[in-house]
Amino acid sequence: MSRPQQITVLGATGSIGLSTLDVIARHPDRYQVYALSGFTRLRELLALCVRHTPQFAVVPEASAARGLQDDLRAAGLSTRVLVGEEGLCQVASDPEVDAVMAAIVGAAGLRPTLAAVETGKKILLANKEALVMSGALFMQAVRKSGSVLLPIDSEHNAIFQCMPQDFARGLGAVGVRRILLTASGGPFRQTPMAELAHVTPDQACAHPNWSMGRKISVDSASMMNKGLELIEACWLFDAKPSQVEGVIHPQSVIHSLVDYIDGSVLAQLGNPDMRTPIANALAWPERIDSGVPPLDLFAIARLDFQAPDEERFPCLRLARQAAEAGNSAPAMLNAANEVAVAAFLDGRVRYPQIASIIEEVLNLEPVVAVDDLEAVFTADAKARELAGQWLSRHGR
Ligand code: NAD
Ligand code: MG
Repeated sequence: MSRPQQITVLGATGSIGLSTLDVIARHPDRYQVYALSGFTRLRELLALCVRHTPQFAVVPEASAARGLQDDLRAAGLSTRVLVGEEGLCQVASDPEVDAVMAAIVGAAGLRPTLAAVETGKKILLANKEALVMSGALFMQAVRKSGSVLLPIDSEHNAIFQCMPQDFARGLGAVGVRRILLTASGGPFRQTPMAELAHVTPDQACAHPNWSMGRKISVDSASMMNKGLELIEACWLFDAKPSQVEGVIHPQSVIHSLVDYIDGSVLAQLGNPDMRTPIANALAWPERIDSGVPPLDLFAIARLDFQAPDEERFPCLRLARQAAEAGNSAPAMLNAANEVAVAAFLDGRVRYPQIASIIEEVLNLEPVVAVDDLEAVFTADAKARELAGQWLSRHGR
């Protein structure tokens, strides 16, 4: 048997990171953890290092690194601690590494994920914001390095599984008419509109079907998550925004569908547990046990579908507009959303103001071409600045 694949998990202490480590631990003969990164929960990172004995751990700054290095030594481990974005890029691109789970949340994941792409790693992409911000450059880098890009987002993993067999060999989405992107509709699908101004961060994070980090939970409540996923789908599957249709499906059992020109519609179903797409991507094109129990269709009994409502979910409209405008618009949308969601989680703005902030930022700043990474980060910084100005005027 060949040596186990060496895996770097960026964002190991998060929801996706932990699910990834759960799947990896079920298959010690196939996978070995090469590096783990954490940003805040560093006690948990220490425990993960003890459990998975990586070669490297990465933390945000030097004093945290010293503390973790001492604790690791005291625990008898030879794990070396690296610091900051440079450390993340190093463990993402190290020649020893076979695959990188990109599970840092937000724009902070872009540079390390690109470092993995540029060195031809197998990329397990959870960090959708990276692709939204820099889609054209990201996909260009994938083609140039020959990196294998496997989607972790449950919808995109479902679409990937329903694509023609030759799709993964670069032969395109032959015969595909539409992509149907399912969405649960989140916790506020039926909340009276007048009550939305009073919902709390904890209510927004109480997703009916999925357990996730707080930022993506708020994105799911506002359906910005679906908007980001629309942009993500266009890049991953070479589709136009008009070919991607959102479908509200409250049970979260069908994870998305592909509609072919002959009238066939292929869907992927499963329990809402991210270990399924993670196991699918880790082992692709093979299949491995993920620990997810079998789907019980009799217990589910029915599957419902509804058209999304852009009045209830203005973030969907804003994301579709940004998808159509392309260039710097998706990076601006993403950055304004990151600032607005953080402000909502901190109690500085009300839930409906998330969309107001993003809309104002997009209206204030013209769309420009983004030909390199610097231009992407310039658009990102401009949007953060404008969103910050909105907060100083209207925020609590
Ligand atoms: P999370 O908040 O649970 O975890 C985020 C991870 O990123 C943590 O390890 C954190 O330490 C790290 N991190 C945060 N800020 C950082 C920074 N500035 N620099 C470096 N590291 C930082 O989030 P999550 O739910 O695991 O989501 C991770 C990514 O996966 C997001 O992009 C999300 O959209 C995507 N995703 C998540 C799910 C899910 O079910 N949780 C599903 C689909 C896609
Ligand atoms: Mg998703």
